[in-house]
Order: sequence, then C-alpha cells, then structure tokens
Amino acid sequence: MYPSPRPGVLDIAPYVPGEHDAEGAAEIHVMSANEGALGASPEAIAAYEAVGKHLHRYPEGGATDLRAAIARHHGLEAGRVVCGSGSDELIRLLTGAYAGPGDEVLFSRHGFAMYPISALASGAKPVAAPETDLRADVDALLDAVTEKTKILFLANPNNPTGSHLSPAEVARLHAGLPETVLLVIDAAYAEYIERPDYEPGLDLARSAANVVMLRTFSKIHGLAALRVGWAYGPDHVADVLGRVRGPFNVNAAAQAAAAAALADADHVAKAKVHNDRWLPWLADELTALGLTAHPSAGNFILVGFPETDGKTAEAADAFLVSRGVITRRMAGYGLPQCLRITVAEEPALKACVAALGEFMAG
Ligand SMILES: *Cc1c(COP(=O)(O)O)cnc(C)c1O
Repeated sequence: MYPSPRPGVLDIAPYVPGEHDAEGAAEIHVMSANEGALGASPEAIAAYEAVGKHLHRYPEGGATDLRAAIARHHGLEAGRVVCGSGSDELIRLLTGAYAGPGDEVLFSRHGFAMYPISALASGAKPVAAPETDLRADVDALLDAVTEKTKILFLANPNNPTGSHLSPAEVARLHAGLPETVLLVIDAAYAEYIERPDYEPGLDLARSAANVVMLRTFSKIHGLAALRVGWAYGPDHVADVLGRVRGPFNVNAAAQAAAAAALADADHVAKAKVHNDRWLPWLADELTALGLTAHPSAGNFILVGFPETDGKTAEAADAFLVSRGVITRRMAGYGLPQCLRITVAEEPALKACVAALGEFMAG
C-alpha cells in the first residue's frame, strides 16, 4: 500500500519538451521549442548577471518593478498584471483556482498541451472541441460548452498549428460564452504578429469580467530559461492569482532580466524583422520540396509530410536528427504526420532546408 494521488493525476501524459541534443552530430541546430532566434537582449543578460551579487536575498515577492514596466509598456493597470514562473505556471494556477473535480476545461483539439495537463492535475475533465482545417472553430467550441465548463483556453495564435482567430471571431466566441466561464487567451507569440486581423486579447482582458490574457518572455524576448510570463485580466482574477501563487514565484534574476528585455525595444524589433524575413522563406522552401507548410502567425511552422513509406514525418525526424537538426515531433498533439519547425537563426534554417532536400530526394 502507498499513498495515491487524486483521480486524474495518473491520466496525465507528461509534457514532452523539445529536444536540444542529437548524439554524434558535429553541429546541432535546435528548432524544437520556438525559442527566440536571436537569443536574449544583452541588456537582459547584464541585468541577470547583476543579480548574482545578491543571491542570498529573497526576490521582491510582488514583482512590482516588472509589473510596473509591463503596465507602462502596454498601457495597462499594474494592479491587474500578475507575473508567473512562465505562462505555464499561470495556466496551472488559473486551472487550479477555477476548476476542480466535476468541472470541465475546454480547448480546441490541437491546442497547447499544457491545457489538458493542467485540467487533469486539478482533477477537472479536459474537453477538446474539434477544429476546422487545423484552426480553432468558434461554433464547435461554443457547442462544447456545458454547465460544467469553467475555463476555455484559446491559444491565439495557436501552438503548434500556427493558425489564429481574428478579433471578430474572438469577440463572437466571448459573446457566446456564459459569463461564468473564464476565457483565457494565451498570446505567447503576440509580438511576432502585426496584421489588421489580429489582436492579442488585450481589448477583452481590459473590459470583460471573464477574460484573461497570458503573455510570455520565453519567445520573442528569448528568456525561456528564466521562466517569466504574465497575466492581465479583471481585478477579481488578479486577486485570485495573488492568493494562490507562491509568495516568490518569479525569481529575482528573472524579474530583472525581463524588465531589461522589455526596455530593449531594438532587440525585440530585430527579432521581429528576423521572423518576418525567414518565416516566409522557410514556408516557400518547404512548399518547393513538396511538403505542406501550414500558414503560421508565429515563429514556427507546422509541416505536413507524405504518408508514403520512407517519407513520413517520423522518417524525416530521424533523418534530420542524423544531420544535427532537431525539430519537434507532433504525435503527442494528434498530428503524427507533422513536424513543427522553429524559425531559428539563419544557419539552422539553411541546414534544415538542405537536410530536408536531401531527405525528399533520397
Ligand atoms: C511556449 C508557450 C507557452 C509557454 O510559455 P512559458 O512562459 O515559457 O511557460 C504558453 N503558451 C503557448 C501557446 C506557448 O506556445
């Protein structure tokens, strides 16, 4: 006999992070985790290093300076910003606070993997609504709402599909939800997108009583190692997060580096220019090889492979790894015929396309 966790926990298929290593390859190109192609801002690295002199001190528990910087940058109320140890922690905290046994947590079929994991960890039931053409389907999501639904997670744009919903579609989704359902709009890739048919969810997070927007420093800011994310929503949600989070949930180095990263607008702009240049390049190259490059609004592309023997995503992955190119397998997302490739730095992109050319010709 031994203690057993509560129902749901052992149903969790643990999150499988992107690989960062390929045995035997001379040079390794990591394109598996959507990490910022240009790395962290030198200002952020300096701020991180400066914290080394004060490691015996607890962090400032309220992340007050960082929240103030975020609020200034985006024109928000600092009291409604809550920082987390990555947006992953905020997904966990929201799920734990708003859903439990007997409740349902809703998301779209190929949505971000942390949503079902968090639901099960909280004892709630994960519910996946079907997508249309690898895109969240507003009607299917609304059809899946029951009186047990407590949270609807929408990644916009979505990882791994790269698809996004327009502000009008998000507004229609929100309008169709009961006021008691919390709509969490996860905009991890928002900084990469500048187009008239996209808005990260700030408008609703500012005005609605049941909408929270999540953001992260892990992607365009290149601070994935430090784990910093933030939430913006109504006062009552910020209050709840303030009660359930750990008192020092964002460490001191992370707070300092994130504030410095936010202030380095040049670095962010360079990262955006890099993505604007290489995302379409990668899509074109993949298409020219006969592969399906699904349209993406992020810093990654979901790539469909043929079902033909020897040309499958699984075979491509093995071939790429042998060439030191590490991408992400998608079987865990219900997309076994696909790989997800990050728009990484130029040498990685060139190595990936060259290897895929060899693979498809072979
Ligand atoms: C990468 C990613 C996150 C996780 O971000 P962290 O802040 O590193 O935890 C959250 N949501 C989506 C959709 C992501 O792709």
